[in-house]
Amino acid sequence: MALYPNLILEALKKVRYPGTGKNLIEAEMIEDDMRIDGQKVTFSIIFEKPNDPFIKSVVKAAETAILTYVGEDVDIKGNISIKTKQLARPEPDKLLPQVKNVIAISSGKGGVGKSTVSANLAVALAKLGYKVGLLDADIFGPSVPKMFGTEDARPLLERIDGRDLIIPEEKYGVKLLSIGYFVKKEDAVVWRGGMASNALKQLIADAHWGELDFFLLDMPPGTSDIHLTLIQTLAVTGALVVSTPQQVALADAIKGINMFTNDKVNIPILGLVENMAWFTPAELPANKYYIFGKNGCKNLAEEMNIPLLGQIPIVQSICEGGDTGVPVALDENSITGQAFLHLAEKLVERVVDRNSHISPTKRVIAK
Ligand code: ADP
Repeated sequence: MALYPNLILEALKKVRYPGTGKNLIEAEMIEDDMRIDGQKVTFSIIFEKPNDPFIKSVVKAAETAILTYVGEDVDIKGNISIKTKQLARPEPDKLLPQVKNVIAISSGKGGVGKSTVSANLAVALAKLGYKVGLLDADIFGPSVPKMFGTEDARPLLERIDGRDLIIPEEKYGVKLLSIGYFVKKEDAVVWRGGMASNALKQLIADAHWGELDFFLLDMPPGTSDIHLTLIQTLAVTGALVVSTPQQVALADAIKGINMFTNDKVNIPILGLVENMAWFTPAELPANKYYIFGKNGCKNLAEEMNIPLLGQIPIVQSICEGGDTGVPVALDENSITGQAFLHLAEKLVERVVDRNSHISPTKRVIAK
């Protein structure tokens, strides 16, 4: 039997896209690129977002519908391509014109020290004399209030230029906002994605961040709609990916990297940070124990051609600093303080490399 596009389109009307409940034709998800060559049919299905959870199931359902309603001998398996709409990226300087660089700090999985690195990097950048803001966008597990010892903070609103704006907390020279200042952890956990995204947008757009050299975003772990919201809200300069050297963490870090670099998102990776790179006991300072494996991130960075910006050891004081609200980066004479200062300097170099307006000369360390 000769094949016609109409037969295929009729079959595709039987496939419902779970995201809207409409069939693929109604939802205008079939690209106008169908080719029929004998029994071989190729075409593309368009999804809004590259991480649409229904991509696999919709492709499978489309194949099945074509084989069922058009004919079992149609050559369709593996011939359906996926297209995703380009994410609308905001223009730099539109939303927060006084913010020079927005850095997304991300990790493939939770518990690798992303928030610890974000907090200490923020403090280290402030020590170098830069104006720094840190947004705790890890909305379902906010840790900035604890790591900065600001659990009791309740940011105020102030009327500025005719708008009521949230005034960020300020500690150790870093401007801070976290959803943890406004709602109890248990309440945010049950929020739906849309509520979380809206709350974050408010913390960005309706806050008085003022002039910042670096605006750090402590992202939620993994890849999610919240990432896409942030990427679409702010003109992100680049991403830092934090991982431990452990194989499972690295596998997830690769997913995180791909989320930023895929051609729809296209955010440069400024570098990788290896956290928990080794353990050195206080009584044997020369010894290094590679608990999670040696150089996992270093090797990954080389493989993916991304700079490794820092290696942070496992040190009890880092953990204690997080728990007591006194980040170790405050003590620039300690080994850990040095490690974070070094990371901050490397980040500044990377940003300068990428033609930002940040001054390349290292500033005087603010005491
Ligand atoms: P994430 O943000 O990736 O979930 P956290 O920053 O909350 O991870 O870190 C998880 C736990 O590990 C925290 O208790 C933190 O204090 C601890 N931690 C993180 N990095 C280090 C390190 N280099 N040395 C010791 N403890 C660390």
